[in-house]
Amino acid sequence: MPNRKLIYFSLGILLTFSLIFFGVRTCAESQKLQVAFLDVGQGDAILISEGEKQILIDGGPSGQKLMEKLGEYVPFWDRKIDVVIATHPDADHITGLVDVLKNYSVDEVIESGAKSESQVFGALEKTIEEKKVEKQLARRGMRIKLSDDASLEIFSPVDAIISGLKGDTNSASIVAKLTYGENSFLFTGDLPLEAENQLLSANLPLSANVLKISHHGSKSATSTQWLDLVHPKDAVISVGKGNRYGHPTVEVLNRLQNDKINILRTDELGDVVYACASAKGVCEVVAEN
Ligand SMILES: [Zn+2]
Repeated sequence: MPNRKLIYFSLGILLTFSLIFFGVRTCAESQKLQVAFLDVGQGDAILISEGEKQILIDGGPSGQKLMEKLGEYVPFWDRKIDVVIATHPDADHITGLVDVLKNYSVDEVIESGAKSESQVFGALEKTIEEKKVEKQLARRGMRIKLSDDASLEIFSPVDAIISGLKGDTNSASIVAKLTYGENSFLFTGDLPLEAENQLLSANLPLSANVLKISHHGSKSATSTQWLDLVHPKDAVISVGKGNRYGHPTVEVLNRLQNDKINILRTDELGDVVYACASAKGVCEVVAEN
């Protein structure tokens, strides 16, 4: 009976797809919070996910590379990135974001307010406008809620930093801390020493379990005073293999080793991924690939 066969066949297909769909969905939901420092070469791209919600901090130096990485970490049915943060306008931080805006629906882009004459910054701004994405300036005191348990607090910049910029936009870098129960991650963009010192004297709750080392391990950042105050257990360095800047520098590596901080480098480990089963538990590094 060909009709009956067709019905069974269709039901079989339907059942298979439902199982795959619910399987993948349950898998995404069981993963409470994940912070992935993506190996995008010489640059930064950090994906914070909780269930189907995502915050992307920076996009690295290549759109193609970032699309591949997001394909690995964002479920195929989820075409939305809730918040995109561009820490500052350098190409190794924003180039990939242009493709994110073109390929995903983005609710909001958060920028430092620092401008650049570069082509890539122009392309980013044009795409934000074309896609009619809401734009917000990051300022100290802002809080971005991911869920009841997870939120991101902005420590820098303040207006005075942006109005006082002279060419170099690293000082404008958005500095933000993600808190999830007892777990915390501090993201620093390419923040230089002078800006670090300003933050140190601002009496902010900078301590964090995981510190994203500023400026790919450049010696013009990550002072011993900074490390003393943040007091991280782990330091993640997002850096390209054999880069021409000599990042990470021996000076910074020595400072980290002297303080017995674990060093996790994307050029050595690939993606560095923390998974947190619950807000009460401890986030652990689950994958280096
Ligand atoms: Zn950079």
